[in-house]
Amino acid sequence: MANIVFACTCGQKMAIEERFAGRQVKCPACGAKVMAPSAPVSPSPGEAGSASASTTLRPHRAVAVLVLGIVAAAAPCLFVPGIIAWVMGSSDLRQMAAGRMDPSGEILTKSGKICGMIGTIIFIGVTITYALFFLAVYLLPQ
Ligand SMILES: [Zn+2]
Repeated sequence: MANIVFACTCGQKMAIEERFAGRQVKCPACGAKVMAPSAPVSPSPGEAGSASASTTLRPHRAVAVLVLGIVAAAAPCLFVPGIIAWVMGSSDLRQMAAGRMDPSGEILTKSGKICGMIGTIIFIGVTITYALFFLAVYLLPQ
């Protein structure tokens, strides 16, 4: 007797005898009545994996990160876009590594994050230089 394996909407996997195919069965986990498939289904792991991945993955924000990063690198005095690109890029890259975000934007996100870091570092460097310069002007004896 071949068994049919299928999953309830709650995620519970059920194995039923073939004679119950196409009939309603009660899920042992949540108690819902589920329609058993009428024919043995054997979804290929690749298909099932990519289908569930595309529905659960968040879309990447690579373009936004990259634009902010380029703005930051081109105009470090703005400061804010660089921090945003850096923070957004880091968190998005972590989510991609964890498999929660569409990894197709990884390269763009990385580029945007690096641009954001460069812009932020230039801003901090320039700020420190100016601060030291003004300190020197005010503190040195005339
Ligand atoms: Zn269930």
